[in-house]
Amino acid sequence: MEDAKIWEEVLKEAKKHCSDEVVSTWIKPLKIVEVRGDLITLQAPNRFYKGWVEEKYMDTMRKIFNEGLSIDADVRIVVAEGKKRTPAAVEEVQPNGVTEQPYYSNNTGLNRENTFENFVAGSSNQFSHAACLAVSEGHFQMYNPLFIYGGVGLGKTHLMQAAGNRILERFPKMKVLYITSETFTNEMINSLRSKKMDEFRNKYRNIDMLLFDDVQFLAGKQRSTEEFFHTFNTLYDMHKQIILTSDKTPGEIPEMEERLISRFAWGLIADIQTPTAEEKTAIMMKRADMMNLRLPEEVALFIAENIKTENIRELIGALVRLSAYASFHNEPLSIDLARKSLDRFLVKKDRMVTQDDIIKAVTEYFNVKLADLKSKKRTRSVSVPRQLSMYLLRDKLSMSLQEVGDLFGGRDHSTVLHAVQTIEKKVRDDKEIQSIVESIEKTLYS
Ligand code: ADP
Ligand code: MG
Repeated sequence: MEDAKIWEEVLKEAKKHCSDEVVSTWIKPLKIVEVRGDLITLQAPNRFYKGWVEEKYMDTMRKIFNEGLSIDADVRIVVAEGKKRTPAAVEEVQPNGVTEQPYYSNNTGLNRENTFENFVAGSSNQFSHAACLAVSEGHFQMYNPLFIYGGVGLGKTHLMQAAGNRILERFPKMKVLYITSETFTNEMINSLRSKKMDEFRNKYRNIDMLLFDDVQFLAGKQRSTEEFFHTFNTLYDMHKQIILTSDKTPGEIPEMEERLISRFAWGLIADIQTPTAEEKTAIMMKRADMMNLRLPEEVALFIAENIKTENIRELIGALVRLSAYASFHNEPLSIDLARKSLDRFLVKKDRMVTQDDIIKAVTEYFNVKLADLKSKKRTRSVSVPRQLSMYLLRDKLSMSLQEVGDLFGGRDHSTVLHAVQTIEKKVRDDKEIQSIVESIEKTLYS
């Protein structure tokens, strides 16, 4: 059996032993490097995955290979080349300092919607997602502090809160506190003013898990940095979990104090990258589901591919806007509706160019009439501009094959598909068509 096939079987088998969440977070990122005699070598994306899988799922992995697949060999895990991080201490410590009362009723600062269940994990956030899940198992100290960094609106707050919410689900009496560095600063200033610093310190130093959001805003603020430094040390020394987020890596935050930068690197640093179009689509589909909205996948994909922003908050905003527009006009969600309602949120080429612009540019270039393009005429002087228009409408506006067919005298979608594919091929290897497309694009975008 080839490795890819074996791996497919492994994943299938894994589902019998572990939850979907465990399979997709911990097992899927592994790869088979080698199956040789009595040893199977798997590769983990980095030391963090390796440590965690070795700690928690080695018996399961052996069982999968030995019993499930009847491959009688031992399993070992190596780390992908060039990705070796400082080893995290793999040492189990149960969370301590648990208080009497369930903590949820108190003010945790958490939004309960920010759960792992509501989060779409994908390649862009895989590492941070896995790290937050690991921390949520309650073995604080293993990855302490956990530092998550990434651009605005990419899910940092959601993920850190998901860890907090999961901890409270599993250990309801634990004290979890979410705070942004700005609120921390403001509270500190108020406490200083009203001479209630003891109260302030007690609040932050008597918790089991601190979720400290947007730590970059501490930079340059000496007094808050000082106060945070002591809070950090107190919690750290008591083996309490700290999760931090920032828009940059610790070292990249300007004016951040050295002693904090070095502490941030004690645990695990995980990134979130910008989402791919597939991930954006999946996030919108999930959101639509949460909003009880019937969103066709092709509409989600259209928005994902054409929206200007990488910010997921804005992506969700676009979906809300589309949904409001649809219910106002009493129309189902469609690509056309998305194009109309989201006009200014879409990338420039889609915003600027309309169906009419394309038809006009093509008919003027070839000096033909639209009526001819719609007609049954099949001479080259008509069929080439017709095919080109179809291609451009698909390429620039992502119109559906049917929409394009309707526009050209009710041609069926296979005719349109053929035309589009013909031009696509020529755009790659026919110099003449290339230059025609280029000059039409020039008229469209200038
Ligand atoms: P950040 O803190 O990085 O600026 P947030 O965590 O506030 O970003 O995320 C912005 C919005 O996008 C939130 O509504 C969040 O729920 C949503 N979101 C971000 N990433 C995802 C994801 N992977 N799956 C589902 N929703 C997401
Ligand atoms: Mg945030």
